Amino acid sequence: MKAVKRVLVVGSGIGGATAAYAMRKAGLDVHCIDIKPETSMAGSGICLLNNTMRALETLGLGKACLEVGMPFSLFREFDSSGQLMRSHPAPPSCGIRRAALACILESAAIEAGAVLEKNLSITDLSDTGHSVEVKFSDGREASYDVVVAADGVYSKLRQKVFGEEFGTKFAGQSVWRFNARLPAEVDGFCLFRAPSGKTLGIFPTSPETCYMFYLENSANPLRIPEGEAHLIIRERLAEFDAPIVRKALDEITGPEQVIFRPLDITLVPEPWHRGRVVLLGDAAHAPTPHMTSGGGMAIEDALVLADCLGGSESVEEALGDYSKRRFTRVKTIYDASLQLCLNEQEDALANKDKSAALLMQTYQYLAQPI
Ligand SMILES: Cc1cc2nc3c(=O)[nH]c(=O)nc-3n(C[C@H](O)[C@H](O)[C@H](O)COP(=O)(O)OP(=O)(O)OC[C@H]3O[C@@H](n4cnc5c(N)ncnc54)[C@H](O)[C@@H]3O)c2cc1C
Repeated sequence: MKAVKRVLVVGSGIGGATAAYAMRKAGLDVHCIDIKPETSMAGSGICLLNNTMRALETLGLGKACLEVGMPFSLFREFDSSGQLMRSHPAPPSCGIRRAALACILESAAIEAGAVLEKNLSITDLSDTGHSVEVKFSDGREASYDVVVAADGVYSKLRQKVFGEEFGTKFAGQSVWRFNARLPAEVDGFCLFRAPSGKTLGIFPTSPETCYMFYLENSANPLRIPEGEAHLIIRERLAEFDAPIVRKALDEITGPEQVIFRPLDITLVPEPWHRGRVVLLGDAAHAPTPHMTSGGGMAIEDALVLADCLGGSESVEEALGDYSKRRFTRVKTIYDASLQLCLNEQEDALANKDKSAALLMQTYQYLAQPI
């Protein structure tokens, strides 16, 4: 007899929405909740690497991403004035707006029969050994066979069930992100390098848009004055006089157009479950973004968890198998991402070739089947 019939997924981000969809496809009853009142239509872009697209294709969602996103397979390096320095092939990837990806994943989950509720969180849960009894923020109560904590890097559920031990730590960099109109020069993953070592990354997220990001080193998490992100980013990128950068910055007129956040990371050792509560995505493993893989790892987690839970006769075995199948791969990406982050902090220009070699080696690793 199947051990798992009814699952609660807490968090409908990239990992949670994909898990809700994949588990419905595996025949489970899925209830998915998110604390946010609605899916954000703002936000930046995300790069879906080859392995991420492969996982999405397995779920039947690859085509939808390609239709609204922008595929590319080139890596280009420019100097800060916009002169092309070098180009080489990159693994085929798809850039996409985060809001567009969220729509695809959530719609797929709902169409497959998952119940998705926003503006809802849990206030308490207790694992009886046979079920998880959950109290919701709107006063309702319900019982589930398994609860999936997909509530992101600052997971409250991880804190409650695993304790403080596996909290986040600051990685030594903060990230500035903003969207812009797509310039013709940006036909792949582009890095603009300034003599100071500052690097600005850009990739397309649709046939009309691109996403720009800049990583800033600091010993402690940076705090920026409220309402000034759009002014500060101009100062930070002052030495980039490439016309496409200047034009993009000119389009930024308010602080809401710039997303700033410190990079906080975590890696929970396996197993990723305690009793019937299991971690997925950033709640279990949040790498720095240098391998553009955190979302991809969350999507792969969802596929594997659905596979483990779908036909299992033992919750303990299914959840144990899930993190066993995932941990080495996720740790490899976490370690490589952190090393790239540390290389930049030490000396981005001097470590450029070392970082490029690590990136290529890790891309090859990612190409292996999950
Ligand atoms: C700067 C940056 C760039 C990145 N670029 C890439 C990239 O190019 N490619 C890539 O693959 N990855 C990238 N990532 C990583 C990627 O964004 C994350 O790994 C991914 O979003 C993780 O998905 P998730 O579902 O685990 O968490 P999230 O996407 O954070 O979703 C968590 C969800 O849980 C909800 N939630 C939180 N608390 C509660 C609660 N108490 N109750 C209910 N719901 C709750 C939140 O509202 C949210 O919707 C990047 C990350 C950063 C920081």
